[in-house]
Amino acid sequence: MRFPIKFVLALLFTCALAAERPNIVFIFTDDHALQAISAYGSRYAEMAPTPNIDRLAKEGMLFERSYCGNSICGPSRATILTGKHSHLNGFMDNNFSRFDGNQPTFPKMLQKAGYETAVIGKWHLVSNPTGFDHWEVLPGQGSYYNPDFIQMDGSLKRFEGYCTDIVTDKSLDWLKNRKDKSKPFVLMTQQKAPHRNWVPAIRHMDLFDGMDLPEPETLFDDYKNRIGAVAKQKMSIAKDFHWGHDMLLHGKATDPRFTKNDWGNPEYSRMNPMQKKAFDDAYGDENAALIDSLAKGMSDEDLTRWKYQRYIKNYLRTIRAVDENIGRILAYLEESGLAENTIVIYSSDQGFYLGEHGWYDKRWMFEESLAMPFIIRWPGVVKPGVRTKAMIQNIDYAPTFLDVAGAPIPDDIQGKSLVPVLKNEGKTPADWRDAIHYQYSGEHTHAVARHDGIRNDRYKLMRFPATDEWMLFDLEKDPQEMRNVATEQSYAPILKEMRALYASLREKYQISPSTYPDQRWAEKWWKDRWDRKNKEAKDAKDTQVVFLGDSITQAWEDAGKAAWDKHFAPLGALNWGYSGDRTEHLIWRLQNGDIQRVKPKAAVILIGTNNTGQSQRPAAETVAGIQRTLEDLAWKWPDTQIVLMSIFPRAEKADNPLRKINNEINEQLKSLADGKRIHLLDINSAFMDSEGTLNKDLLPDLLHLSPAAYNIWAEALAPKLKELGL
Ligand code: CA
Repeated sequence: MRFPIKFVLALLFTCALAAERPNIVFIFTDDHALQAISAYGSRYAEMAPTPNIDRLAKEGMLFERSYCGNSICGPSRATILTGKHSHLNGFMDNNFSRFDGNQPTFPKMLQKAGYETAVIGKWHLVSNPTGFDHWEVLPGQGSYYNPDFIQMDGSLKRFEGYCTDIVTDKSLDWLKNRKDKSKPFVLMTQQKAPHRNWVPAIRHMDLFDGMDLPEPETLFDDYKNRIGAVAKQKMSIAKDFHWGHDMLLHGKATDPRFTKNDWGNPEYSRMNPMQKKAFDDAYGDENAALIDSLAKGMSDEDLTRWKYQRYIKNYLRTIRAVDENIGRILAYLEESGLAENTIVIYSSDQGFYLGEHGWYDKRWMFEESLAMPFIIRWPGVVKPGVRTKAMIQNIDYAPTFLDVAGAPIPDDIQGKSLVPVLKNEGKTPADWRDAIHYQYSGEHTHAVARHDGIRNDRYKLMRFPATDEWMLFDLEKDPQEMRNVATEQSYAPILKEMRALYASLREKYQISPSTYPDQRWAEKWWKDRWDRKNKEAKDAKDTQVVFLGDSITQAWEDAGKAAWDKHFAPLGALNWGYSGDRTEHLIWRLQNGDIQRVKPKAAVILIGTNNTGQSQRPAAETVAGIQRTLEDLAWKWPDTQIVLMSIFPRAEKADNPLRKINNEINEQLKSLADGKRIHLLDINSAFMDSEGTLNKDLLPDLLHLSPAAYNIWAEALAPKLKELGL
């Protein structure tokens, strides 16, 4: 049978097209709120439009219900890279966390799938990027003026000009000069703007002069009808703005209604004389007028309004440069012919308060900072101008990119590919999610209490563990979230339903007190031990085995010392036992310590009895905590053999409830041992008689070991380690 030549050519052409996988240009900013994007119905659309972002919405799809999982900079970025919520990728907050670039990320997987990968601009994950063929990133928060960039060789290089323009220049240069143009690519162009301290480009410093920009209705929120934590934050426009750093005034505050400890304006000190002159020309008169008004006794309300205007104008000015530069990227994609086969995405790491509730900043699970813009243009696939209500989260980006590239999506990724939504004209597929989970771990900046919660189509539930309080909002009746209805009788059935949904989503995302990483920084001895142990790891040489656990491990330094010195000291062993630790503390220690400084041949893990003893947590929850530890170690120490100890028995008699929980844990641990990397060692029968009664010579307090018991443990463990090649 012969096919007509025309048919064969058409078939070949179709196959070639199918093989040509799309490029991805991911344009990402920092703190860009929906309320400042025209396509999302910006309050400022008239005077501060965003025509280039709007163009993407017109030619692509806009997600109306797009949310982050943890509303701060670093955590959002880590979630995007991994497709996992913060408690799994280890980047929980901006105070302690350091992204471990050894873990699986979508750029690495795309590289494997044949993509060329690049990230340019703000990174903010402390460690340097991994998984990118090219990267050039700002150190930490970066600077608006004459910014430094970390180069791939680790050096720091300064570039004269305005950051938003420079990041775009560098992105365009990379696009133009790519080494291997036969490969599809992913380019992440990541702007610092519009992040604090909101310093505009010189060409935009006079924008909005003489205008009064609209205020949000809740600028003077009194925080009534919500729990006390809402009033306790330190992110208020009225009280928490710095004179120099945030309001861009020179010298010292002439009025007490600014924060006491001003950081000054670091951008002004970076400027060259020409930039400084332009800055002073733009702000000088307005600053002088304010100082004059303050001297004459400006009212609290007037001053708050002035601060709001100064803030919002500068914020929107920095966005003007973002939008212009997006226009430059879109123009280049067109000129170069790349546009047709390139997906362009606009997003920002989380939302922001533009005066709502009287605030600036983010962190809260309230709508303004929970929302992330997400607009995607994909010619030929996404129907132009569609607005979708499908509920998405930043855990979805990684699986979407992998799906687009035809790469496999690993099972442990928590997000869903958006491709079914994109190909479905934005209609929500039948099996789509109907609620999201949110977590904020709390940090000292801005004093926002730790909370987590869920949001579905209509309601939002938040939980504050420190005070064991709940807030429930009816978003349909109260879109501004001014009234907590958790204590109102008429909402009792809804509260019950939402609490059940909260529990099921926490289970789905593997969140429990035993799996959610936590530190004990408040206890001085714990922090001291942490510092000492980190230093020890840094200086360690030839460490063959590390012991991980709680007080039973820690006491190798004490009751177990003789046995340790005999059996394990010669192996350069390290003791990472911390008295009182539960699984969540061990998880935190592994995520936040730079543990890859040591590469032991084996690790011995004994953890979990405090999960049982302190609060009688269910066995499955403790096992999930132990499993998390093993999963983290799988990529942190991929070549390390793990000896997982069955938890030692506790309490005198076999029928004690705590003993029974530990037994249950041990039963379930069997399924975690694979005999290849993870080896279970159970020596519990040595500590009791045939009835299961504990021997008090070995466990004098029915929990901790005597020197004789440490000997028994050491003599069982030493041959096991030998067997594993030590
Ligand atoms: Ca941010």
